[in-house]
Amino acid sequence: MNYNRRLVCLCGTPPILNISWTNDNHRRRFLDCRHYGPLFRNPCKFFDWNDLKFPSQTNIVILGLLKKINKQEKQLKCRWMKTDFGH
Ligand SMILES: [Zn+2]
Repeated sequence: MNYNRRLVCLCGTPPILNISWTNDNHRRRFLDCRHYGPLFRNPCKFFDWNDLKFPSQTNIVILGLLKKINKQEKQLKCRWMKTDFGH
């Protein structure tokens, strides 16, 4: 995983890869910013379909990897926050 080559939203945060479960776009992957949505006062508009085609077995493996990466990113963020508070 090369983090330097990942997409970055206008706000500077890397977008999150999500899976759509609606009937129209069943299991289509899309990227959106973590500041996207009605919960934020100034939500980002970053949104993009991510339509690389994979065989379904590969898809399942990738989904598992994505879960792992998301978990690791959360842990990394926590560590950064702790470092910030230490100053
Ligand atoms: Zn953003």
